Amino acid sequence: MKVMVVDDEKDVELLFRQYFRKEMQQKKIELIFAFSGEDALKQLRDMKQPPEIMFILSDINMPGMNGLELLQHVKREFPSIKVSMITAYSNQYYDAAMEYGAEHYFTKPLDFNALKQEILKG
Ligand SMILES: [Mg+2]
Repeated sequence: MKVMVVDDEKDVELLFRQYFRKEMQQKKIELIFAFSGEDALKQLRDMKQPPEIMFILSDINMPGMNGLELLQHVKREFPSIKVSMITAYSNQYYDAAMEYGAEHYFTKPLDFNALKQEILKG
């Protein structure tokens, strides 16, 4: 299954590649990375429609379009994609994220086991 990770911090890509190495080798998960909300939307729009992305995990605090804005765009344009938020701000944006249709709200530092469970249950 394809999962898109959106974060302006590039070392997040390395973390995900380490934690999901086995699932990627077994082709259970394909990770796609975007480094801004704008980049994420562009990639989604450029894909064969509807995109095969099943999950988006997005940081909230990013320059330009933030994660909550991205969430709203995705829910309008690609309603079948589940979006979860990742943030260092524990509960500050929780209500807004839920109101806009987020699936989950993960806080940094990420609990990759919880994240993995959430993704693999589909
Ligand atoms: Mg950030």
